[in-house]
Amino acid sequence: MVADLHVHTTASDGRCTPEEVWRQAISSGLSHVAITDHDTIDGVLALTGKTECGPVLIPGIEFSTDLPACEVHILGYMFDLANPELNRQIALIAADRLTRAERMVKKVTALGYPINYDRVLAIAGGAASVGRPHVAHALVEQGYFPDIGTVFDVLLERKKPGYLPHYKLTPADTVALIKNAGGMAVLAHPGQVGDDAVVRAMLGLGMDGLEVYHPSHDKSATARYLALAAEYRLAVTGGSDFHGIPGRYPETLGEFTVPADLAQRLLLRPVQA
Ligand code: AMP
Ligand code: FE
Ligand code: FE
Ligand code: ZN
Repeated sequence: MVADLHVHTTASDGRCTPEEVWRQAISSGLSHVAITDHDTIDGVLALTGKTECGPVLIPGIEFSTDLPACEVHILGYMFDLANPELNRQIALIAADRLTRAERMVKKVTALGYPINYDRVLAIAGGAASVGRPHVAHALVEQGYFPDIGTVFDVLLERKKPGYLPHYKLTPADTVALIKNAGGMAVLAHPGQVGDDAVVRAMLGLGMDGLEVYHPSHDKSATARYLALAAEYRLAVTGGSDFHGIPGRYPETLGEFTVPADLAQRLLLRPVQA
């Protein structure tokens, strides 16, 4: 029995619709799947009531937050999907992601890589969370770059010339938002934070879990975060960070999995009324 607790869909920057993800989840025999789109629950909502067959659907989200030195992603699980403040913040982020994408199109165009905002929106295909990967896709499509990874390296990573931030909460406010909605807050892929002193500071914000298992963690990072989770008495989680984007993380659901008992631990948390 294996699970995947970190999966993206077309509701954010994944390439597979929630329904396609679910078909793949069934055929790969997963016991539990958490849909954790960036800053949106639309993928979870799209599957609600349609998952009688196959894995247990765990509602999730992945919030982006910024620190001066790095980006920090915080996963939320098992929160009340109808929580008003959570939904208010999600709507604010989605709206600002749209204006940011439009400004980003102008910025990369001025840098000598003309693209069209309407084309970015078409690529995003109605995603609630329009993001850098959609802009990158448009730039690759125009033939300026060989792949999305190169676009990030040259233009879209923080501190690169095409980058723009979007509205987001602080890490502390994000943890509070998730917990006030009855959910569990989990620090995503701590290896990508790049500094374990910062990881410890994030865990000190009241995090409930740590994403120990992630395709970007090598054996030694995984062992280090397993020990850190034990030290802080945190739930251990993990997942594939599946996006369905060629060359980025596992390209097929079921390739990178975690033991199902990690999912059971998340389900123990009752959802607030
Ligand atoms: P955004 O949320 O719009 O700021 O875009 C950030 C997202 O872009 C991340 O969550 C990743 O899914 C994706 N991303 C970040 N770096 C890369 C990269 N080097 N190659 C491909 N995708 C990336
Ligand atoms: Fe992503
Ligand atoms: Fe992430
Ligand atoms: Zn992710």
